[in-house]
Amino acid sequence: MKSGNALLSSYGTTIFEVMSRLSEEHGAINLGQGFPDDRGPADVLQTAADALLTGWNQYPSMMGTPELRQALAAHYGRFYGLGIDWKTETMVTSGATEALTACLLGLINPGDEVVLFQPMYDSYLPIVRLAGGVPRFVSLKSPDWSFSRADLEAAFSPRTKLVLINDPLNPAAKVFDRAELELISEFVQRHDALAVCDEVYEHLVFDGRRHIPLMSLPGMRDRCLKIGSAGKTFSLTGWKVGYVTAAPHLLQPVAKAHQFLTFTTPPNLQAAVAYGLGKEEGYFTGLAAGLQAKRDRLSAGLASVGFDVLPSAGTYFVAADISRFGFDGDDQAFCRWLVAEAKVAAIPVSAFFVENAPTNVVRFCFSKKDEVLDTAIDRLRNRFVSS
Ligand code: PMP
Ligand code: GLN
Repeated sequence: MKSGNALLSSYGTTIFEVMSRLSEEHGAINLGQGFPDDRGPADVLQTAADALLTGWNQYPSMMGTPELRQALAAHYGRFYGLGIDWKTETMVTSGATEALTACLLGLINPGDEVVLFQPMYDSYLPIVRLAGGVPRFVSLKSPDWSFSRADLEAAFSPRTKLVLINDPLNPAAKVFDRAELELISEFVQRHDALAVCDEVYEHLVFDGRRHIPLMSLPGMRDRCLKIGSAGKTFSLTGWKVGYVTAAPHLLQPVAKAHQFLTFTTPPNLQAAVAYGLGKEEGYFTGLAAGLQAKRDRLSAGLASVGFDVLPSAGTYFVAADISRFGFDGDDQAFCRWLVAEAKVAAIPVSAFFVENAPTNVVRFCFSKKDEVLDTAIDRLRNRFVSS
């Protein structure tokens, strides 16, 4: 019997699916996979429903509906002062996952080097490899997930085609500061490289921080491909509506990949996202403020039962060091034990590494109702404190 693609066959099922299945099996509270447990903004949902019933439900343009592309360009002008030409510089995709895949397949030639920061989202590396790219890693180390000039010197080379950066960073909940972004942009420019910027958590940043698109730094406007996700911005992760913004000469090859991947994205969802991107400032600040309060609630709870909680500057996530528990096993074993014994699911952070993985850090998702977070902490307390 002939077998499937060797590279893809070498990967197991993603950790998110694995932990969500285990969570269901054990009747656990799922603080593993990152998704909110509320219904999302009612007006955005209503716009999608109306568009489904009364709008056009045939193929929209492969680049996305003009309405959504215009809304996106206006949104990035409003929030970041970016001047984007919607006709030549925006494209709608079926989720950020597709946007990432289209960027990597559209830009990488076999043998090109790709700089990846670990921890990294699980879809990056398989796609870089499928495209024939050669990964070069920069490993960020907990607790502050920082990196140095020397780390970049070691990873970049004359063969570097692009760097893939995720800011805010899942699972580390790090938001890159301006100095770090400037350092990355210096290397990108010195090596005449590109940057694929996975900025899906752009609106989920806390404590008065503001997200800085790498594209907004001097010299980077025409080197960056900025990726966003309506799933995160509107707490509707199942919708899978993403977008890529980039200079025409970068967007064109990416559109070539997109046309053979999904070609287009449901028009009613595009209508609703176009509406949503135009919402008033208060919606976006309220989203971040609400999540910040949940971060604080879960972080305090985790600390009270003995976890060493790491700072979380953005995303849906907080990471925690488990060394203090003296658990006999790594983070993967700890998460499997936790879901079965405490009935709380988390994600082992080593799943986001391919080398030099820490084995003492786990990730919890806090984008859940307060009572769900409280019940999770009660369960952990019963296991760690009362036993
Ligand atoms: N990148 C990162 C860092 C993510 O956490 C996610 C969340 N799934 C994605 C990309 C994919 O987003 P989407 O659901 O829009 O495909
Ligand atoms: N981005 C989500 C997370 O990190 C999961 C998405 C997925 O399940 N593929 O939890």
